[in-house]
Amino acid sequence: MTPGLMAGKRGLVMGVANDRSLAWGIAQAIAAHGGEIAFSYQGEALEKRVRPLAASLGSGGLVDGSSGGANGPFLIECDVGDMASIDAAFSQLAARWPQIDFLVHAIGFSDKNELRGRYVDTSLDNFLMTMNISVFSFTAVAQRAAAMMPDGGSLLTLSYYGAEKVIPHYNVMGVAKSALETSVKYLAMDLGPTKVRVNAISAGPIKTLAASGIGDFRYILKWNEYNSPLRRNVTIDDVGGAGVYLLSDLASGVTGEIHHVDAGYNVIGMKAEDAPDISVA
Ligand code: NAD
Repeated sequence: MTPGLMAGKRGLVMGVANDRSLAWGIAQAIAAHGGEIAFSYQGEALEKRVRPLAASLGSGGLVDGSSGGANGPFLIECDVGDMASIDAAFSQLAARWPQIDFLVHAIGFSDKNELRGRYVDTSLDNFLMTMNISVFSFTAVAQRAAAMMPDGGSLLTLSYYGAEKVIPHYNVMGVAKSALETSVKYLAMDLGPTKVRVNAISAGPIKTLAASGIGDFRYILKWNEYNSPLRRNVTIDDVGGAGVYLLSDLASGVTGEIHHVDAGYNVIGMKAEDAPDISVA
């Protein structure tokens, strides 16, 4: 591993729920490459999980093996469904770190009752809530983060192939991810003149808390494993490696990009001949 790709850079990682979260894979890779991280968490229940994880990476100070540095882990509460909470979170961030270099947005949410069955049955309330939490929140945090990046920076969000093609049960989240991917492109254009880059990773399916809400997710995992060019599913470490690339100066000429980290699944046109037949059950 090349050390130091993130040395001298600090930023906010939003969306760690536990040690299986994609945000955690990215955070670990950032820390391994010398970056400093503040973490936002959704609410008190998650703080208990995020605190020890953040401390183990030395968040908010030097790695000391336990406390996470002299000031303790840098943790900030933020519910992106509440604009006042977003404002408060960024005030807290700016009070300690007036300038940041990167932001990771690994947040999505929809009513799991609508992540099964048919998209056509989506309700207005859940459509609006899903778009707010999973799409607009990235624009909301981009507005605030970019203002803290006078020397430029890098913003990263997480998408999925269900934005491009119909995936069973992904439904309203697929529509939301399409909007998220398009907002990456518009944000890239708006923020490019100030050297703020905006990209997304389109990750293959990974078993996480959020993913467990999607109907027949185990079937989706198996299908991807058997039919991807690499004949495996991706891990949060795979996502973390690509995350460091996009957040670091290695990707200094890359913005507006939707970068697939999916073992190549998106290039496939049909089932592999050697893929076993599988059933939903
Ligand atoms: P996860 O459950 O570990 O993370 C989802 C995070 O979203 C949690 O930390 C949760 O607290 C946060 N969140 C939800 N509502 C919020 C709110 N109102 N305010 C603040 N935070 C909120 O699951 P994950 O799979 O790591 O999801 C992270 C991102 O990766 C999501 O955008 C997801 O769509 C995307 N993604 C996941 C997969 C996958 O297969 N797991 C694949 C591609 C993309």
